[in-house]
Parts: sequence; C-alpha cells; structure tokens
Amino acid sequence: MLTNFSYIRPKSLKEAVKQLSTQGAGVYAGGTDLLGCLRDHVFEIKKLVSINGLKELKGITETPSNGLRIGALTTITEVAENPIVSKHYAALAQAAREVASPQLRNQGTIGGNLCQKPRCWYYRGEFYCLRKGGKMCFAIAGENQYHCIVGGGPCFIVHPSDMAPALVALDASVRITGPKGSRTVPAEKFYVLPREDVRRETVLGPGEIVTEIIVPTASGTRSSYRKVRTRASWDFALAGIALVLRFRGGVVEDARAVLSGAAPIPWRSREIEATITGKNLDPDVIAKASEAAMKNAQPLKENGYKILLFRGMIEEELAAIGRG
Ligand SMILES: Cc1cc2nc3c(=O)[nH]c(=O)nc-3n(C[C@H](O)[C@H](O)[C@H](O)COP(=O)(O)OP(=O)(O)OC[C@H]3O[C@@H](n4cnc5c(N)ncnc54)[C@H](O)[C@@H]3O)c2cc1C
Repeated sequence: MLTNFSYIRPKSLKEAVKQLSTQGAGVYAGGTDLLGCLRDHVFEIKKLVSINGLKELKGITETPSNGLRIGALTTITEVAENPIVSKHYAALAQAAREVASPQLRNQGTIGGNLCQKPRCWYYRGEFYCLRKGGKMCFAIAGENQYHCIVGGGPCFIVHPSDMAPALVALDASVRITGPKGSRTVPAEKFYVLPREDVRRETVLGPGEIVTEIIVPTASGTRSSYRKVRTRASWDFALAGIALVLRFRGGVVEDARAVLSGAAPIPWRSREIEATITGKNLDPDVIAKASEAAMKNAQPLKENGYKILLFRGMIEEELAAIGRG
C-alpha cells in the first residue's frame, strides 16, 4: 500500500523548484520508477511535485553548435525514434531502444532514466541496507550475481540506466536548476560512487531538477551501444558498452568507452580507451583492450561470470564498430 502523499503540478520551473524546496518533496516525471519505489516503501515522499506541466522541459532541438538539447521530459521513445539522434548519435538511439519495454519507453522520460534508483534487490526489498541508512550491505554475503564487479564498496549496486553510459560516452552535460540557480555538470560527473556517499546516486541537491541534457556534436565519430541481458523482452544490463570512436584512416584517433552493468556508476573504461587509441582495431589490439578492461575487476562470490561476459562482448563490439 502507498503511504499518503500530496500531489502538485506547478506551471512554471520557478514554482516547481519552490515546491521542491520543502522537506519530503520529490520530483515526479513519468512515475515508472518512482511509483514502484513508493509502493515498496524503498523511501517515502510526502509531496509529489509533477513536472509534467513544464512544456519547456519537453522535446529535442539542435543547438547552434550542431549539438543537441534534449529536454528532461522527453520520453525515451521520442529519443529512440528521433531521426537526428538515429543518424548522428547512434549510441544514444540504440541505448534508448534497449530500455525496458515499449510501454515503459512511452511513459518514461530521459530525465527519469538518468535519475532512476538502483535495482539491487536488497535495496528494493525489505532490507535496511547501507543505502537506506542501515549498517550493512546485504549483497556482500548474499545473492550477488547481478551486482557490480568494479567501483564497488561499501555498497555494490549496479547503475541501472542504459542511456547514461551512452551520454557519458558522447560527452554530454546535464543542466540542473534548483534553489541556488542553474548549473551544468558533465554527465560523467553527475553520478556519485558509494565510497563518496553511500546514500545518494547523483550530485542533485535538495530541490534540484534536471531540466535538459546537452549533447555536443558527434560529427565524424562512429558510435554504438551494446547490451547483454537475461531476457530479450525487457531486462537491465548484465553487461553493456557504449563506444564513441573517431577514426583517421583505419586508426582510432580518439575513443570514449563506457561500461554498463559493471559498476555503481556508468564506468568509463580508460583502459580500453588507452589500448585502442592510435591503433588499428585488429584482433590483437581488440583482445588486449578486453583484457585491460577487466584487469581491475573484483567480482563478488556469484558474479565472476561477468568478467568473461564483458570480455566477449567488448571484443565483439570493438570488431563490429571497426568494420563500420
Ligand atoms: C519493469 C522495468 C524495466 C526497466 N528496464 C530498464 C532497462 O532495461 N534499462 C533502463 O535504462 N531502465 C529500465 N527501467 C527504468 C526506466 O527506464 C525508468 O523507470 C524510467 O526511465 C524513469 O523515468 P520516469 O520519467 O518514469 O521517472 P520517475 O519514475 O518519475 O522518476 C524516477 C526518479 O528520478 C527522479 N526524477 C525524474 N525526473 C527528474 C528530473 N527531471 N530531475 C530530477 N529528478 C528526476 C524522480 O524523483 C525519481 O526518483 C525499467 C523500469 C521498469 C519498471
């Protein structure tokens, strides 16, 4: 059963920020993640502030510098089906198509996708874990086959969004408005590791709203997003990779590689980037890149299989993007 809450639908961003500045208030976008959390009492919200009346937060437009501005309320389906995104930002379009099911993509927004809560079954279940303010992480000695293999500790969640790794690889930024004004944060710096603060997933402060995502031009790059999951119908990533590469001739001139399903945040693999930059993507380089990507992995008792899964997937995806 849901705990009682009030619901308000402001007509302006200023009013939304004001409403969110009161204690116990929370942003409501598509509700596809939030309502489940409230129903399962993962956390409580006293006042739901729906941002759905804020038209300025909707839609995709090109920026003067040939990049993209994606309003936080743009649905995942709109991102997946946008012709400019599909043509110039393949990694983002592919990631959007991999999210959940058609119904969830129609209702869920890009802002909500970036801010969704982790899917750890202890956090989502009736366990008073570290992330909820408790004293222990139940995954360490528990069922941890879906938990992280890098960047973990003291909590071992896996970051759940498919779109975030693609946006980090595309060097996107997140525009935020709150009680102290507006600020822009690189998508890469938007997320918080458990060792920095185990109670939060993002840098958002009280009353802050993600208003838009800015993606710089991807002209001259090749990009892709690959996701491996248990079920084809809908499922979160067991392993995934977003790649944005710039080639000169057959040589990789510049590379950004971000793993999903690996860590508590979208995990930039500097090891892959360093191994392939300045090289042709031949089988030897690809094998070295996949080995380097997993060299610092520290699996828990039941998720060691992810290392081989990542290695195989990274090799397949680098070979595919190399073929063009
Ligand atoms: C069955 C199921 C399967 C799923 N599978 C996948 C998957 O494979 N891949 C994947 O990436 N995701 C998956 N998801 C998650 C889904 O993509 C998210 O539920 C959805 O994107 C959330 O968007 P929303 O607009 O509904 O957000 P809400 O549910 O409204 O909000 C989610 C959270 O973000 C906060 N929030 C929302 N918008 C903003 C904003 N603009 N500024 C600040 N905070 C904000 C809310 O306060 C809340 O905490 C799945 C979800 C379900 C239920």
